[in-house]
Amino acid sequence: MRVDVFQQYESEVRSYCRSFPTVFTKAKGSYIEAQDGQRYLDFFAGAGALNFGHNPDLVKQRLIEYLQEDGILHGLDMYTDAKGQFLQALQEQILQPKSLDYRVQFCGPTGTNAVEAALKIARKVKGRRNIFAFQGGYHGMTLGALACTGNSYNRKGAGTALPDVTFMPFPFGPMKEIDTIAYLDAVLSDSSSGIEKPAAVLLETVQAEGGVVVAPTPWLKQLRSLCDKHDILMIVDDIQVGCGRSGNFFSFERAGIVPDIVTLSKSISGCGLPLAVVLLKPELDVWQPGEHNGTFRGNQLAFVSGTVGIELFQSLNLPAQVAEKSQLLQQELSGIIDRLDARMELRGLGMIWGVDLAPLGNERLIDQITSLCFQDGLIIENAGRKGQVLKLLPPLTASSDELHIGLEIIERAMKKAL
Ligand code: PMP
Repeated sequence: MRVDVFQQYESEVRSYCRSFPTVFTKAKGSYIEAQDGQRYLDFFAGAGALNFGHNPDLVKQRLIEYLQEDGILHGLDMYTDAKGQFLQALQEQILQPKSLDYRVQFCGPTGTNAVEAALKIARKVKGRRNIFAFQGGYHGMTLGALACTGNSYNRKGAGTALPDVTFMPFPFGPMKEIDTIAYLDAVLSDSSSGIEKPAAVLLETVQAEGGVVVAPTPWLKQLRSLCDKHDILMIVDDIQVGCGRSGNFFSFERAGIVPDIVTLSKSISGCGLPLAVVLLKPELDVWQPGEHNGTFRGNQLAFVSGTVGIELFQSLNLPAQVAEKSQLLQQELSGIIDRLDARMELRGLGMIWGVDLAPLGNERLIDQITSLCFQDGLIIENAGRKGQVLKLLPPLTASSDELHIGLEIIERAMKKAL
């Protein structure tokens, strides 16, 4: 297949393929392979959709069995065995052991649709239009979720108003010096603040697209208390850093808080098949039947693979693996920064790490680094306000050797670019 087929026939809106301009054919584990036989170590992992790596054996086996038995492929939102198995696994293996009491809503199979559903139900429950989102946050590209996304380039794409959202400062950058919780409290307590009380606060506990910005644990706890104080719902968007990426299954566990609503997608299907869910406290589940509808709310293959994903999360003891590899990544990246330029800033936790090149003041560096990595056999993307953060998002199942190989490629690329 020629690359110019895509350039000629596919919309200009295509994006990642521009950074990795080759035709991919196969993938396994931490590697993705192009048609010319070149193998690439994948430190982007489907933007966080491949926590278990590409084509995990057990997932593949179950999918093949399911297909061979003529298991249902499309079932609207009917009761199917595949959906039942997934629901039971999620409730019994993940939620109940953590004493998390949530109803599971299946929505359209993309992250952004889960965010839309979460916003709708929050507004319906509280009877308020406004939502507080955070500066630097990313929640998706459909209008409701986009209204909660800070990035001006993405927002411009809407071509229309993005109403009923107020952006609040996230404890990062210049806002780090501000007591953002006190600011929120003041705004909510002052009847002349001019800011409407929101139905919900929507946040990522680690802003991923925003440049790997980790919200401090005390801040998360304070935000939870603030939501309770002012009768506001807390929605955690765990689409990118959920399903084990942060070290626990849910990213908010490290703060010991329980959100009212959680969105999950990306890695919840165990292998990158489209699936998205909203977890709701039972008292918030006041939907009327079909009020948030959709033809594709029952991706049966994703239910099958997602059930395996939950089994793998347990059997591989991913939290222990992530803790170990997190340390490796942090230590090695700190070493690279010390050797090359100590002005670079390292942020992250679990298996999401970002090296922020913004302090170097050369905006062209990052593209040079990612393309040098690609030439050297590593897929890695950038993130952050000005795209200045090299974002490491390897599969959680990547071996230490694979992590070392990737880190060596990164160091070589940085050295050359610098
Ligand atoms: N929320 C977060 C935190 C995300 O990272 C993303 C995707 N990058 C989305 C929502 C949107 O998900 P999707 O691209 O599947 O619509």
